Amino acid sequence: MIKKSRKVRDYKELTKALPTLRYLEPEAVYIHLHNARCKTYDLFVKEGDKVTLGEIIGERHGGFFEQPIHSTISGTVGKVSKKLHRTGRKVDCIEIKNDFKETFHESVFDRTDNVIESLTQDDMVQILKEKSLVGLGGSGFPSYVKLATKEKIDTVVINAVECEPYLSSDYRLILEHPGRVIKGMKYIMQALSCKKGIIAIKSEKDPLYQVLTQVIKGRFPDLDIEVKRLGNHYPQGWEIEVFKWALGIDIPFGELPMKYGVIGFNVSTAVGVFDAIKHNLPVTKRYFTLTGDAIKFPQNFRVKVGTSVKKLIELSDGFKNEYDEVLVIMGGPMMGVSTVSCDVIVSKTTTSVIVLQNIDYEEEPCVRCGSCVYSCPAHLEPVQIMNAVKRNDKEVMKGLEAFRCIECGLCTYVCTSKIHVTDYIRKAKRLIG
Ligand code: SF4
Ligand code: SF4
Repeated sequence: MIKKSRKVRDYKELTKALPTLRYLEPEAVYIHLHNARCKTYDLFVKEGDKVTLGEIIGERHGGFFEQPIHSTISGTVGKVSKKLHRTGRKVDCIEIKNDFKETFHESVFDRTDNVIESLTQDDMVQILKEKSLVGLGGSGFPSYVKLATKEKIDTVVINAVECEPYLSSDYRLILEHPGRVIKGMKYIMQALSCKKGIIAIKSEKDPLYQVLTQVIKGRFPDLDIEVKRLGNHYPQGWEIEVFKWALGIDIPFGELPMKYGVIGFNVSTAVGVFDAIKHNLPVTKRYFTLTGDAIKFPQNFRVKVGTSVKKLIELSDGFKNEYDEVLVIMGGPMMGVSTVSCDVIVSKTTTSVIVLQNIDYEEEPCVRCGSCVYSCPAHLEPVQIMNAVKRNDKEVMKGLEAFRCIECGLCTYVCTSKIHVTDYIRKAKRLIG
């Protein structure tokens, strides 16, 4: 039977109604020195040095940009060690031991509203560059590059759809800090001389609709910002789907949305813009979901970037049972990366960690049901790509346009034979990349 599905069980009820637990005074943080976009780095500090919150301690080198590395607490520099990044790779991390003084670096200061109103697009781009802001929904793309667009932007869209199952950190962020979200959006609109804004949420998220519309009406009556409730299907949060359902614009594969007069930022990134412009502060803390059926008390945290997930598991009262092994997913269950180690660090772009009882199940042979084909939002033929990977036939992989896959995970989710189809498509992308 064909399983055509864009509906996935969301499990958000485990955490979304609970207030966020603040854990902002860890003994130490571990700051990633490199990542998938920035393969090399320079470190400007050595073991024993004293650092302050917001101070630049190094620089990552990407293909076409440099990225300052900031300390997220004040304290003493420790050693460099390997920790798990959300991409599933072990990367170098520098330890900073907390002195619990929360001493800010001199570069952190407040701008008055008058000063902010006088900032140009170039000024704001420069601030985001210095503060190393990236897409905090997981993309990690440098925000200053996006904000520097010279295209005429008619609409700024803040993506608060958060369609991945289990995740509710963006939901809690909006409920608890709606004003910071809207101010961040206001600054983006100012930079781009854009008069119209849309905040896109899932249709089921009624509390968000009420909170946001009330705050816009009460505190920002001069801004033309509309809250739009989109569908509940997956992957509704994919930017292309957001633009399609919020604005009726179909962006063809490979084209930039800016060309169509629209630009999108994740809701956490909008708050990052607020902190950078208002307080000249890099991203030092973030909302983070720790959940899954192996965790005793799943919940959302507000933590320093660099916090150990092991510590957060302890604060959630540990595991429900003594397991031989658990499955740890970094990011959402559809698009995230899995491992069996909990030695994970919350980086700027780590939205969540899901810990599941590691139930092994056997893959069965493909029954050619076509469910993966009917469900693919990118209109690909996952089963054919999988077969081409098995034959190592790169020409067919290219011909089937495996490079257009957005790694949403739906083909695995719907597969009748429990095959990890998405893993094959990822492999195809690597092979033809
Ligand atoms: S092929 Fe890619 S885009 Fe299509 S369902 Fe699978 S993971 Fe999603
Ligand atoms: S890979 Fe899975 S979903 Fe796709 S055709 Fe085969 S059995 Fe069906």
